[in-house]
Order: sequence, then C-alpha cells, then structure tokens
Amino acid sequence: MIRVAINGYGNLGRGAEAAIAKNDDMELVVVFSRRDPASVQTLGAPVAHVDQMGDWVGKVDVCLNCGGSATDLEEQGPAAAAFFTTVDSFDTHAKIPQYFEAVDVAARAAGNLALISTGWDPGLFSMLRVLGEAVLPDGASTTFWGPGVSQGHSDAIRRIEGVVDAKQYTLPVEQTVAAFKHGDDVALTPRSTHRRDCYVVAAPGADLERIEQEIVQMPNYFADYDTTVTFVSAEELAAEHGGIPHGGTVLRRGETAPGVAANVGFELELGSNPGFTGSVVVAMGRAAARMAARGEVGARTVFDVTLADLSAHSQEELRARYL
Ligand code: NDP
Repeated sequence: MIRVAINGYGNLGRGAEAAIAKNDDMELVVVFSRRDPASVQTLGAPVAHVDQMGDWVGKVDVCLNCGGSATDLEEQGPAAAAFFTTVDSFDTHAKIPQYFEAVDVAARAAGNLALISTGWDPGLFSMLRVLGEAVLPDGASTTFWGPGVSQGHSDAIRRIEGVVDAKQYTLPVEQTVAAFKHGDDVALTPRSTHRRDCYVVAAPGADLERIEQEIVQMPNYFADYDTTVTFVSAEELAAEHGGIPHGGTVLRRGETAPGVAANVGFELELGSNPGFTGSVVVAMGRAAARMAARGEVGARTVFDVTLADLSAHSQEELRARYL
C-alpha cells in the first residue's frame, strides 16, 4: 500500500482525495493544512497542521502538494521536499526552470525525490508535445485550450468596479483547429486560436456599458481576443455556470514523406479541472513513490516518468494486456 499525504486542501486537494479512493494500492493517511486542523473537514482522513509535518516522516510514502501556483507552491515545494517524496502541479510555465532548481536543492539536501509540474498542462500535454515532436520531427505542434473556465480571467473580471461575480470560458476557434489539422498555412495568433465568453453578475445600478468596455479592452487578458460579455443574475450564474470544466487538445502535424501527412492528437474533455488534475497527481504519486523506493533523489519532471511506474499493473500484466 502506498501511503499518501495531501498538502493543502482546496479544489485540487479534494480532487486528489477522491482519486486516491479509486486506487486500491493507495491510501490517504493525512491531510496537511495551514489552517486550524479543526476547521478543515475531509472525507475521513485526519488533518494535521503543516508545522507538524516532521511527525509524519516514515509514515508517508508520497506527499501531494496541492497548493496554488501563484504564491503557495514556491514555498510549499521546497519545504515539503525536506521531509517527503513529493508531487505537485506547479503551472506557472515561465517560472518552471527556477522552481525546478529550488525544489532540486531542497530535495537533494534531504535525500528525497520531488516530481514537479504534473497535472495536464503542464503534465500530460507536455508529455504529448515531446512525443509528437520525437516521432514527427518534420512538422509543427500547437495546443488549443477549452472549452473551459479560466480562474485567472474570471478573477480579473471580478476586480472591476461594479462586478459582483463572474465566470470566463476559454473556447478554441473551431475553424482554426480544423485548418491546422488540414495542414493549411494558418496564422496562430491569440485572436485566431481562442475566444473568450464572459458571464457577469453586476451590482444593482452598475453601469453595464462601462463594465463591458473595461472587460473587452483589458490588456493581456481580453484585448487580443474576440470577447463576448453576457450579464446574468447571481442565481443564473450559480445554476448554469457553477462547475469548473476544462480541457483542450495537443496537435502535432507532420510529414513522413513529401506530401504524406501524419496527424497526432491528444484531447481532454474534463467535467472538473481539479477532479482530473487530482487524478493525474495521484498516478504521478504512485510513480514518484516507486522511483524514490529505487533510490532516486532530486527534482524530476513528467519527462522522467515511465508509463510502467504510473500504472497500477505489474510489468508482466502490462505486457500481456496492452502490447
Ligand atoms: P484553491 O484556491 O482551491 O486552493 C489553494 C490552497 O488554498 C489550498 O491548498 C488551501 O491550502 C487553501 N484554501 C483552500 N480553500 C480554502 C478556504 N476555504 N479558506 C482558506 N484557505 C483555503 O486552488 P486549487 O486547488 O483550485 O488549485 C491549486 C493549483 O493547482 C492551481 O494554483 C494550479 O496551479 C494547479 N493546477 C494545475 C493544473 C495542471 O494541469 N498542471 C490544472 C489545474 C490546477 P491550506 O489547506 O493549506 O489552507
């Protein structure tokens, strides 16, 4: 049995908890939180304060760091690697190289293994980008995200004066997806690849025209995209936009000979982004525990993980079932 800890109990922590329950070879032994443990209600596992992590050394095979990438993980990653084999889903792409270095130093000092930036993007999508390019070196890759909710864009709308709540969906532009697959010479700009649909609850008496203009003209977030704004009631937002779906597609288009095309695609349609990300993090936890048991030390990425280590099946079973 692989003994698992969850560090940080938000959406992703709960997703990982649900995923552990679906894996017979893994058990959740403790949830760590920065909050008062008495205020954190899990589905059954005991809760300990993060300051008590040291008490769990030797009782945990892998710790799943489920904090947020914006501020939590840069502290949580190195701190937890001092005690345990760890897995996280750090997703600030531009900062991954320096995050890898910081976690690597902490993990090596403690003789632990730390598998960073798992999940689906980065994570499974990263693996598929490498695979597509390796088998089709003469070609091009692209990623389309959505349909799905972007928490960052939803938060940006909520900061506008007069906005009570908001949900932002990122949607791929279907014509561009089709043109890319077809091999057309299509420009891949923000506007040609994705559009943004916003559902906004405004305060009573708020200037709706001003709010809409502030959204569609917001630099970096919306100005470079075709954006729609729909005002809804709080009840409508809760009833029709309450979920956290997401997904996307990694595509590799190449040629195996002049004029002979090959397309590789990997597609995700996720009813719950944290639910699925938690499922990936748990499978990565199995792999990390096995790699650590073989004596591997230091930071690792998904590129170091084998399919055999991710799978609950033995090598013999895998050869018989899936080759
Ligand atoms: P949340 O905001 O739900 O949780 C982040 C942390 O906030 C938790 O670990 C928890 O820490 C704390 N927290 C949660 N709920 C409360 C509360 N009610 N009151 C006070 N504190 C609370 O973030 P998510 O779980 O949705 O996402 C975590 C990260 O997962 C994201 O930042 C993103 O980087 C990553 N992610 C990665 C993906 C990938 O494909 N690689 C995909 C999706 C997400 P504590 O218990 O210690 O208080």
